[in-house]
Amino acid sequence: MFVRRHRREGIDYDAVPEALAASAVEPGDAAYARVRSTYLRGGSPGLVLRPGTPEEVGQAVRFARTQPVKLSIRSGGHGISGRSTSNGGIVIDVSRLDSVELVDKATRRIRVGPGARWGDVAAALAPHGWALTSGDYGGVGVGGLATAGGIGWFVREYGLTIDRLRAVDIVLADGGLVHADDEENAELFWAVRGAGANFGIVTAFEFEAHEGGEVGFGQFVLDATDTAGFLQRWGAVMEAAPRDLTSSLIIGQARPGQPLIAQIMAVVHSGDAETIINRLQPIAATAPLLDHAIQVLPYEAIMQVPHGPHDAQGEPVTRAGLADHLTPELAAAAARLVASGRTYFFQIRAAGGAASDVPPDATAYAGRSANFSLVAFGPGRRALDEMWDGMLHHFSGQYINFETDQRPERVEEAYPEPTLSRLRALKRRYDPANVFRDNFNITPSAP
Ligand SMILES: Cc1cc2nc3c(=O)[nH]c(=O)nc-3n(C[C@H](O)[C@H](O)[C@H](O)COP(=O)(O)OP(=O)(O)OC[C@H]3O[C@@H](n4cnc5c(N)ncnc54)[C@H](O)[C@@H]3O)c2cc1C
Repeated sequence: MFVRRHRREGIDYDAVPEALAASAVEPGDAAYARVRSTYLRGGSPGLVLRPGTPEEVGQAVRFARTQPVKLSIRSGGHGISGRSTSNGGIVIDVSRLDSVELVDKATRRIRVGPGARWGDVAAALAPHGWALTSGDYGGVGVGGLATAGGIGWFVREYGLTIDRLRAVDIVLADGGLVHADDEENAELFWAVRGAGANFGIVTAFEFEAHEGGEVGFGQFVLDATDTAGFLQRWGAVMEAAPRDLTSSLIIGQARPGQPLIAQIMAVVHSGDAETIINRLQPIAATAPLLDHAIQVLPYEAIMQVPHGPHDAQGEPVTRAGLADHLTPELAAAAARLVASGRTYFFQIRAAGGAASDVPPDATAYAGRSANFSLVAFGPGRRALDEMWDGMLHHFSGQYINFETDQRPERVEEAYPEPTLSRLRALKRRYDPANVFRDNFNITPSAP
């Protein structure tokens, strides 16, 4: 009785399928505090379903689609757009599907559950001398990243995470489980690689791993007072760099009486000191160097982060864009944004390289010409939007995983024609009732 008092309107709690009831969590349950929020966002869902098998995921979808409340999908809980929790809705949390298994040694084929974290994947592959291009933070979940893109430390050498994806098992809007790869359900497999959240809940990913081993990990602190000049120089260095180098930069706000600083992290896929120094020297020369550290580490070491429950509060406000080049105009606009105080965390990741070898129509991720992925976190939506909207003409695309703006233009940027029409036709085929809509939503095309 005590727990029932906290139940939310619109959810038929008594109809939760038996197989899901024992692990389900609702407001008032002791476990609720551990599952209500995500890494970046506080939430108060009415029900969190925690299926432990693909069949149970199917049952969860069949139940949730009959309930007149929001449906959120959660794997690792690191979503930036905040849609993996809600207020009063149902969350299908597949974090229990977190295995990392070897399928075939000869082809380096691995099978990974959506709830695994990229740090776990790196650790599991390391004994074989392998790795998998993912992100730059080991706590991020596989499910959200591998259905949208995946820009990480190996992106220039091995492409996006979706470029190493060879097959998925996915629970569709009708609750049915299907396999998709280049031969079976090939169009669905195309859509999952960039727009996966619109089509179902992936319960297993099969990837082809690549060479891993040691990396040179460089961290630099630079004086970014000449912000625009620094951004252009760093951009030019990255575009000219061999593909075994990837780096990203972060600029915050200057502390009173101190210069504006930029932090750069860079990874060289080599354990050879001379190669590492050669690759990193041009980066260190992009602005006055204030501090630096260079280490040779196994790749998995830079992806290890402690696991813990998520208890974030607040509404992250971000804007994101993909750019082909850091032109003088874009660099100047970014410098104005930083100087305005409307972003407290401005980040640019290098992309391009192998990610740009893939044609824009080969997957639903269309932003293939981009050498850079930009994101700005701001304290307020309107202030950030005002400036970012004025920068849109500098961008060639959108990576949805760093964006929180929910205006429909963001969907058109991420999926420019003809990608969008192809996705809308597939949405009509696979999810005509738009069950999976709390995302960067692709509306089904008209019959
Ligand atoms: C600290 C931090 C660092 C990051 N660094 C990088 C980076 O270097 N490179 C990069 O590319 N991205 C990065 N990201 C962004 C990251 O890719 C997204 O936040 C991603 O959605 C997180 O995946 P998740 O499973 O943890 O998220 P969740 O919060 O669990 O899910 C986010 C969304 O993904 C979709 N989704 C989740 N699971 C599934 C599934 N099984 N099937 C279908 N759809 C699903 C749903 O729409 C859901 O709302 C970073 C995020 C954070 C918070």
